[in-house]
Amino acid sequence: MELRLDGTHYPLETLGPGKRLGVWFQGCSLACPGCMSRHTWDPAAGTPATVAEVLALWRRALADGADGLTVSGGEPLQQAAALAELLAGAARLRDGARRREGSAGPHPADLLVYTGYEPGELTPERRAALGGADAVITGRYRAAEPTPLAWRGSANQRIVPLTPLGTARYAPYLTRPAPGPRLQVGPAVDGELRLYGVPLRGELAELERTLKRSGVGFTERSWRP
Ligand code: SF4
Repeated sequence: MELRLDGTHYPLETLGPGKRLGVWFQGCSLACPGCMSRHTWDPAAGTPATVAEVLALWRRALADGADGLTVSGGEPLQQAAALAELLAGAARLRDGARRREGSAGPHPADLLVYTGYEPGELTPERRAALGGADAVITGRYRAAEPTPLAWRGSANQRIVPLTPLGTARYAPYLTRPAPGPRLQVGPAVDGELRLYGVPLRGELAELERTLKRSGVGFTERSWRP
């Protein structure tokens, strides 16, 4: 099955516990004011990919001992069929690797999905697409409600564990700050600098000022219209 992606990154260390494969879906019509990922809004932008190609990255990440998969965007549920297929395939590969390794292997990798939809907007079709996830982080980004809570951009957003593994991995962080840094700088591709994570209020402006003092300026920023 085909999907449109904004990108992928491994190892991702700022959106969920441990070392993860990050997958960003392209396209989001929710248009939260202050969204730092405006480049993911246009459903026709990004790059085409297949679920099989993403699963090949996941297989490599698992072989490297990844702690989990984080699917974000964009809005993953606006490509619901591809999301469902990706989660089902990721769970199958994770469970297969676990069976081969037995209890001597690393702890099982979890599957986390970010959605801007509120819990009350999760229709049966959307819930079905999330069926393979261990946990979901729900809710629009609200710029007026900053929060230090782990892996969330605003205080209204909720971590919802969906499986025993999701509960074990995420319940300790429901009301706690993230254990590590909130922002990660990825490799620059074609002159584009990628930042991964959920910054605290003012953190992006501070980063811009710091870089400017070193003679580095941005021509465009995905967090500004
Ligand atoms: S914060 Fe998330 S849900 Fe909101 S507009 Fe940005 S990508 Fe969409």
